Amino acid sequence: MSQCPTRRRVISGMVKASAVFPILALAGSAAAAGTTPKSDVKYQFTPNGEAHCGACVSFIPGESGGAPGTCKVVAGAIPQNGWCVLFSKKSGG
Ligand code: SF4
Repeated sequence: MSQCPTRRRVISGMVKASAVFPILALAGSAAAAGTTPKSDVKYQFTPNGEAHCGACVSFIPGESGGAPGTCKVVAGAIPQNGWCVLFSKKSGG
């Protein structure tokens, strides 16, 4: 049973699109800052013991060493010495 060329092209396009969209989604989320309000995660501008944003897997460093960064989850500027209830220590740090 053979498929008509048009149907084959449609199926081929769907396969290619399904392969590309997850890659685009990952690329977009890799550098995107979060949107969760600080008040929802009990954010504080001071560390919680040794736990602080600079050691969290969700932290995205700022342009220079001491500049505030951003967070993959929480909205706004995030100083390295802040902390919230979503803290998760990055490995090797
Ligand atoms: S501790 Fe909270 S605000 Fe800080 S980087 Fe981690 S998830 Fe983001």
